[in-house]
Amino acid sequence: MMKKIKISGKKLVIKKGDITEEDTEAIVNAANSSLMGGGGVDGAIHSKGGPVILEECKKIRETEYPEGLPTGKAVITSGGNLKARYVIHTVGPVCSSGKLTEDKARLLKDAYYNSLRLASERGIKTIAFPSISTGAYRCPVEESSKIALKTAIDFLKEDRTVQEVRFVLFTDYIYEIYKKSLEELVK
Ligand code: ADP
Repeated sequence: MMKKIKISGKKLVIKKGDITEEDTEAIVNAANSSLMGGGGVDGAIHSKGGPVILEECKKIRETEYPEGLPTGKAVITSGGNLKARYVIHTVGPVCSSGKLTEDKARLLKDAYYNSLRLASERGIKTIAFPSISTGAYRCPVEESSKIALKTAIDFLKEDRTVQEVRFVLFTDYIYEIYKKSLEELVK
């Protein structure tokens, strides 16, 4: 399951898969503010990437974010044993009521945008995202997918460094929703 489109000569891909297996230069972690690991995709990235990632996250906490990484911000570590050379850690909003309010929508956009900007600043050409905030953080997949895809499309139109953005979706259900949203956004 995979769909590819071109945006200003660059690639936007959606595929079903496990992001810890991706060979993009960077993969994005849907982390929590503590940066100390967690469940879901966060747990999978730390367990496959090994202890180097956590060590670097601890340093970032000590030096830059003693109170934790705020929602919508992004930081970068190496990828440890992963195929990806870097992990970009970002924190999406928590949709405790299951609703994506205007504030949460902006924070979700920030999480994608700040991850993309950080990648570009570091000269990273290929990056893979999970569906941020749609697991334990319970944001609705349909609206969240539109924000994710729109932010990536707008970014690819402007940026000169990033050449490929992949969304790596863990389930058929989430993949199908992203596919529908992408068709609506580019029609
Ligand atoms: P959040 O707390 O931001 O909601 P989760 O990790 O709970 O983060 O879920 C985010 C998304 O990541 C969910 O759609 C979940 O299905 C998905 N996911 C979980 N493990 C993986 C994985 N190995 N690769 C890609 N996506 C994953």
